Parts: sequence; C-alpha cells; structure tokens
Amino acid sequence: MAEECCASTVPTMILACAGGSYAGQLTNQAAVELTREGFGRLFCLAAIGARLSGFVDSAKKVPQMVVLDGCEVACAKKVLEQAGVPVRGHLVLTQLGIDKTKPGEEDLARVKAAVQSLPGTFASGPYCPYPPPETIKLAQVGPPDVICCEVADIQGQPMTCACQKT
Ligand code: SF4
Repeated sequence: MAEECCASTVPTMILACAGGSYAGQLTNQAAVELTREGFGRLFCLAAIGARLSGFVDSAKKVPQMVVLDGCEVACAKKVLEQAGVPVRGHLVLTQLGIDKTKPGEEDLARVKAAVQSLPGTFASGPYCPYPPPETIKLAQVGPPDVICCEVADIQGQPMTCACQKT
C-alpha cells in the first residue's frame, strides 16, 4: 500500500495575473522560475476564473498560496475573491517599486525575493509533481500507486523530491 506522497510538502500554489503589461508578464515569469526552482507550483488562474470546480476547490484547500498581481488593479486577487477563494500571500509588483510598463534591472530578482520573504509561504524542498491523493484526479499525473517522484518540471528539467516510490 502506498504511503501518502508529499503530505508534508504540499507546494505553495502560485497564481499570477499574467497580464499583458510588462509587470503582468513579470508575474508569470517569476511564477515559472519559482516553480522551476522548487519554491512552489504555478497554478491555473484562468481555470479559477472559468469556475472549474476542481480548480476552485484546490485553491480553497491549498495550505499555502502566493497571488501575484502586476499592478493595483489586482485582477488575480479579484478573480479569486469572485470565486470565493480566500486570498493569501498577495503581492502587487508596482508596490515593490516596479514600473508597470518599463523594464528595470533586477525586477525579476526583486519579485522572487519578495515572494520568498512572505511569512509561512513555502514548504521546503522541491515540489512533488505527484500531488496528494485528493488532487491526483484533477492533475491527471502519475498512477495512484506511484508515490514519487522523478519526473520533469514544467520546462522539462529533471527534478527529484524527497518522497519514495512503493
Ligand atoms: S493586475 Fe494589472 S497587470 Fe495584472 S492583469 Fe490586471 S491590469 Fe494587467
């Protein structure tokens, strides 16, 4: 019988507005890099906006969340609020001194540092690509008896987490 995978390392859910402005795209870039580096897992904000029940439920249940908005319009935050998802770990990039339209040096590093400094945000270690049992069906990754974890990240790079295979 398989032990539960990654029960203590549920990755932080990262939601990015991914808007069309420079700052909006920077939210997505930061989310992708943070996911690749093991500090969380990029999740589908659009699916929550579309009210897909599995995605909304996952967002409601996840213990750790970061919401990245490019500017004070705060679209990602509003999407979550309108879907009834409690917003946690909200960052607005323009409030970090980042220009909405004009690229600046070190912007990406500034965003990543701000995310990583949020209190209580991240589980340690790389994210487990086989999620806990309740989310396996939604994510459709990995057979249920495989409890971990030597697969590629979202950009195809091999990753290994601390979980064990049966
Ligand atoms: S929060 Fe700002 S940057 Fe992001 S989608 Fe909304 S208007 Fe665009």
